[in-house]
Amino acid sequence: MSAVVATETLIKPHGGSLVDRTGERPGDLESLEVVTLTAREVSDLDMLASGALSPLEGFMGRADYEGVVDSMRLANGLPWALPVCLAVDEAPSGERVALADESGRMLAVLEVAEVYEYDRDREAENCFRTTDEAHPGVARLYAQKPRYLAGRVTVFERPESSFPELALDPRETRAAFAERGWKRVVGFQTRNPIHRAHEYLTKVALETVDGLLVHPLVGDTKGDDVPADVRIDCYRVLLDGYYPEDRVVLSAFPAAMRYAGPREAIWHAICRKNYGCSHFIVGRDHAGVGDYYGTYDAQLIFDEFEPHALDIEPMFFEHSFFCKACGTMASAKTCPHGGDDHVFLSGTKVRELLGAGEVPPEEFTRREVAEVLIEAYSS
Ligand SMILES: [Zn+2]
Repeated sequence: MSAVVATETLIKPHGGSLVDRTGERPGDLESLEVVTLTAREVSDLDMLASGALSPLEGFMGRADYEGVVDSMRLANGLPWALPVCLAVDEAPSGERVALADESGRMLAVLEVAEVYEYDRDREAENCFRTTDEAHPGVARLYAQKPRYLAGRVTVFERPESSFPELALDPRETRAAFAERGWKRVVGFQTRNPIHRAHEYLTKVALETVDGLLVHPLVGDTKGDDVPADVRIDCYRVLLDGYYPEDRVVLSAFPAAMRYAGPREAIWHAICRKNYGCSHFIVGRDHAGVGDYYGTYDAQLIFDEFEPHALDIEPMFFEHSFFCKACGTMASAKTCPHGGDDHVFLSGTKVRELLGAGEVPPEEFTRREVAEVLIEAYSS
């Protein structure tokens, strides 16, 4: 993509400039101690490389980590909601280490700045609001190695994207927005197929800005979430049929889910700011799991920051539905009618219908999306 497109009209990256931690494979790579990363750490590494985690240039040192866990601030005072850390057993002996994925493929070099111990209970309590190991994020934290290795990274091998045509780095989404002449862009995070309710939110948001970034998370999720390839097919048929092509960019968000609910909503918003979004949709129970978080916690947490401290503007939405009496999509904010007039299906009911090869009501799911899901369920 052209690098000459002026992107100054877009929101500035978090901290002021976009980090680029890609670089050359060093000649002495073979002599370095190797640290093996988990799938989540690999996705964090890739986001460090691309600038998606700007202003971070590497895995967090203790001052940043403590500030983030305690008060959602980096050591320099900039808002930041979740640790980005690399867990190890022991301090390495050298000043630099090689970082590899679980298959042994070399990805990056880390300049060792610090190795420190951390308190799992405190991280769990502050970041996930629970120490219950049934929570997938807490379980991952408790299973992790006991020390954090901090330092700046230089990434010479990017992990292969499962969806290369959708793998746009922040500088590429920024260029795409600028080429279309957009200034105000709303980002939509999702890890589910988009049914009518979320189609409605994205369109209501789009009415007030220049463009929409549909940014599905394609990193590691729980085993029972709809697989990313099926979701991508759902997004394509929906966007092709029901959104103007020149108002939407579909791209993959390479992060792994943390299921940290409110804090992850902040973290997701900051990442999308780096991708060039000026606005970010926050629905009910954003990035939640089970019933660990209150319905509106992911919206209320934005009040813990001064207005404009994050710069990116959150757009809060209620649960929405089709109302037969209104004859339109609506929410409790815009419809005075009762539940009998609302077309609502639980997630379980939708899965039942699709599993049986039945198309849910058109007011709930677009037929084209239902067909993709039915096909996936039957194979
Ligand atoms: Zn109504």
